[in-house]
Amino acid sequence: MRLHARRVFLARAAALGAAAFLRPLPLAASTKPRFASDPFSLGIASGSPRADSIVLWTRLAPKPAEGGGMDPEPCAIRWEVAADESFRRIVQRGTVVAVADRAHAAHVEVDGLEPGRDYHYRFFAGDAASPAGRTRTAPAAGEGKRLRLAFASCQQYEQGWFGAHAHLARENPDLVAFLGDYIYESSWGRAHVRKHLSGEPRTLEEYRNRYGLYKTDPDLQRSHAAAPWIVIWDDHEVQNDYAADRGEKLEPEFLARRTAAYQAFFEHMPLRLSSLVGGSVRIYDRFEWGSLATIHALDDRQYRSYQVCPREGRAGSAFVGPTCTARLDEGLTLLGSAQERWLDEGFAQSRARWNVIGQQTLFSEAGRTNANGVFVNWTDSWDGYPAARRRLLSSIEARRPSNPVFIGGDVHANYVADVRARAGDRASPILATEFCGTSISSQGVFSPRDVAATLAANPDFHLGDSTQRGYVVLDIGVEGLEARLRVVDNVKTPEMTVSTAATFHVAAGQPGIRK
Ligand code: FE
Ligand code: CA
Repeated sequence: MRLHARRVFLARAAALGAAAFLRPLPLAASTKPRFASDPFSLGIASGSPRADSIVLWTRLAPKPAEGGGMDPEPCAIRWEVAADESFRRIVQRGTVVAVADRAHAAHVEVDGLEPGRDYHYRFFAGDAASPAGRTRTAPAAGEGKRLRLAFASCQQYEQGWFGAHAHLARENPDLVAFLGDYIYESSWGRAHVRKHLSGEPRTLEEYRNRYGLYKTDPDLQRSHAAAPWIVIWDDHEVQNDYAADRGEKLEPEFLARRTAAYQAFFEHMPLRLSSLVGGSVRIYDRFEWGSLATIHALDDRQYRSYQVCPREGRAGSAFVGPTCTARLDEGLTLLGSAQERWLDEGFAQSRARWNVIGQQTLFSEAGRTNANGVFVNWTDSWDGYPAARRRLLSSIEARRPSNPVFIGGDVHANYVADVRARAGDRASPILATEFCGTSISSQGVFSPRDVAATLAANPDFHLGDSTQRGYVVLDIGVEGLEARLRVVDNVKTPEMTVSTAATFHVAAGQPGIRK
């Protein structure tokens, strides 16, 4: 029976060819699997919260960095959601079938939950039980007095331990936003504390192994188990500095590589099945936290224009001076026209007190005078796409979403800024506030001297610091927002401590840092 079911499944899978994402799940699955070692080595996760629904995630992988170690046949995973931590009051349970086509990952969309409350969840497969996680639904429309939102980005595995995640988990966040560079495809940087154990991933199997390696980290698992996550990617989930369908080195086979990387990302994240659109993965999405906050989560990689003025024979980013007039091209886009429209409509429709714009990189103008006395801009961030930034600010001016706050990552530095209609012009109104958070473990890429030059050239910044690692905690309330820049003392040791480098306040109704 099992053999027959497997043959049918394989035949169906083969007939459907390349559309691996969209294959129907098989009906028959092994319910009594045996595993060589713990199949829940990657832990658990939850995410994409709604008021009545949450996504629960796990993946069976007894050998996480070596192809997963599962038989190719489908395998049943049971799940439970409880009202209490000790699982005495189970509110829902069910079974999901994990298949090899999706790396034996489970994405369970649990509906019919109560708004604005904690739940606990866990999984079982055969005789194995997963660790338990805590999750939380969003408050109902019209509700919501407080939101503790922690956000983080950029966790190069070799350059540091993930102790910042253990500290983040202890902050008791309602929600975590991860803003990109969850994995790194390449080995680089100084003073490695551990190794990737394999070369740069290019195939689906290789990307799965990379996620497998990263997700075995116990501190990262603690962070997932503490709260639901909203996840967006940046470049390193595929390749450094890629733009839309173009790789950094103009590789002809780049799009196939990107497809594999996107599939692996979906397989390892608590995303909804509705993220699988048109043979790709759509990660931009909107989350309502009752009437308190709307979180607009953006994708500035998949649909962007190519970076302007790259180095000879290459693509990707560069520092460009005033001679690169292509930077001023009105046609440049970072979000693509469909996502720009979607965001504009989202601003128009939002009735929430706060509008958090979760995106990958530094939004504020950050040009600086370099060592040769040339004023330069970096082409990979919004500075490379000034017309796109202007359109977004015009959308905020026209639609007037309440209390816009940009959060970002990518640059491995903390930046805090007032976002003006015209940067640096004291006569122009402050439209929004920006908190760009530093990295979990990835080393700073801009020197303190470069950061100082950026601050000197751009008076709208309140802070810039590329020397520290950590994450940001936002306590969002009806009257105001408090941001704490949490930094760890040393990512080269697992026993790192955490402290608050700086605290900032934003008053509701008054964009910009409160003086
Ligand atoms: Fe990064
Ligand atoms: Ca990046």
